[in-house]
Amino acid sequence: MCGILAYSGKKSIKKILLSGLEKLSYRGYDSAGIGVLTQEKTIKIYKYAGHVQNLTKNLEKITIESPVGIGHTRWATHGEANDINAHPHLSHSGHLAIAHNGIVENYNTLKKKLISKGYTFQSNTDTEVLINLIDYIQNYQQCALKEALRFALKHVVGAYALVLLDKNNPHQLIATKKGSPLVIGIQGKEYFIASDVTPIIAHTNEVIFLKDDEIAYINHGKLQITNAKAVEKTPFIEKLDIHLEAIDKGHFPHFMLKEIFEQPQSLQNCILGRLNMLQKKLTLGGIQDHLPSLKEANRIIIIACGTSYYAGLVGAYFLEDICRIPVVVEYASEFRYRNPIIKSNDVILAISQSGETADTLAAIQLAKKHHAIILGICNVVGSSLARTTHAGIFTHAGPEIGVASTKAFTAQLMSLAMLALKLAHEKKTIAENVFQHYLLELYKIPTKIDLLLQNISPAIQLLAQKFKNSRHFIYLGRGYHFPIAMEGALKLKEIAYIHAEGYPAAEMKHGPIALIDQDMPVVCIATKDHCYDKIVANIEEIKARKGQIIAIVTEKDTHITSLTKDIISVPDTPAALMPMITIVPLQLLAYYTAIARNCNVDQPRNLAKSVTVE
Ligand code: GLU
Repeated sequence: MCGILAYSGKKSIKKILLSGLEKLSYRGYDSAGIGVLTQEKTIKIYKYAGHVQNLTKNLEKITIESPVGIGHTRWATHGEANDINAHPHLSHSGHLAIAHNGIVENYNTLKKKLISKGYTFQSNTDTEVLINLIDYIQNYQQCALKEALRFALKHVVGAYALVLLDKNNPHQLIATKKGSPLVIGIQGKEYFIASDVTPIIAHTNEVIFLKDDEIAYINHGKLQITNAKAVEKTPFIEKLDIHLEAIDKGHFPHFMLKEIFEQPQSLQNCILGRLNMLQKKLTLGGIQDHLPSLKEANRIIIIACGTSYYAGLVGAYFLEDICRIPVVVEYASEFRYRNPIIKSNDVILAISQSGETADTLAAIQLAKKHHAIILGICNVVGSSLARTTHAGIFTHAGPEIGVASTKAFTAQLMSLAMLALKLAHEKKTIAENVFQHYLLELYKIPTKIDLLLQNISPAIQLLAQKFKNSRHFIYLGRGYHFPIAMEGALKLKEIAYIHAEGYPAAEMKHGPIALIDQDMPVVCIATKDHCYDKIVANIEEIKARKGQIIAIVTEKDTHITSLTKDIISVPDTPAALMPMITIVPLQLLAYYTAIARNCNVDQPRNLAKSVTVE
């Protein structure tokens, strides 16, 4: 959600900012802009609604020479997506400019106060209020900009990452964050400040992940970091282990397709060093020290949003099934506002791909106040979630650029399956031979998905053509496949803009069956497990009402084949692990349907990759 990029150095500012904003665009945005300094010592802002290409086109014939510059891709929260509301925003005096990610919740009160002091506003954004507040405090206190920023933020309620430009200090950048991510890339005396590492890794792999309330101050090629109390801190420089190819589409037309096809590899990476088939052992180093508390846990509370929430549901089924611990799964946004009961022997398990999901982070803070143990499952090393939890499991799926999550989801499922197995083994709620059987099956999953991916695309492309004009879809599944039905429906909504509902198959009779007619495609996940006969009965019911059945079945299923022609067969594995396989054709169905409808797959409208505002 939103992208910030700032640069201080000798390279072409225009090139760095524009190519970097292009890299950040996967996060989701609706307008883009840059702010630079001119030879005449003024701040010049270029900003336009629409794609970064639009900004690039408008800057084609403009020469920019500036020692520092700030850039932004905006995901509108306050004020529509137009040129005026786009960032950067100038202060009333024209001395300062800001690129900001997040929300100033009390902007209205602050705005009224500033208006009473004579300030005027061009945009409808909360951001313009923030820059004018900083401007006002600097004038009033006659202090340095970083001091003014520190004072101003004491009056701000909300979450933010921001970077400032000051026309009176043409070699200076100031940045800070609270609740939204910000990372600084360092190459000698050159600095990059960005929302994530994607625009940085082409230049350097040395980075500092800024912590909440820290202020980064760059001046004349020197970096200083201070905390909220203005005490200087020694920055911790990390070396990134991400290669440029990881954020490149390679020979694929879209990141999403590339990431779907990467799943055999990403799952392999997820089990690497954890699943040892020679020693028949499963090790989860990240949570090893917390296993005793996990064993004694009264309850596990999984908190997550969106796709991660569905992964959590699958995980909850398996954890309860084999560990015999009660597990509840909660939307982080609901959990944090409903005064939940959290006991000190509850274990909180927070799941987030980016590790920056605002609601999940806030829910963690709430649980911390109740002294619960907080574990995390997350894809991004160095993310806020990774830093704020007591321990956890990195999914190691690699950078996920497509807005619709695919490989991160299956890696979350794999991490949850490993967690459930490890805990059940420790608690001795699973027999050794069953445990060993699961390990073997886990080990085979990447190969099975690989084989599946080699074969299913043509059949799914035909289905996409057949159903691309449908206005609604229903997805049905039972047990482990109920969350997969919801995740499959979510993928279709996200990228093909078709209304889709995921339902537990048995619930169909309690309402949705009224929607079924010859125009309603119904995707049934009907693999061979203990609910097979039940879902076959549901398929018969849909057929009797002329619904168009698309069935995901286990290889060699002959029964469902006689009920519908639209069949996708998948390899068999134990029911608890099957979601990692059955989601793959549903990801492809959403992808090819979106392509058939000419949708922008990697940057679907209105969506952001990491939801850093609540
Ligand atoms: N709240 C600000 C706005 O609406 C920033 C949004 C963003 O994070 O892009 O302009």
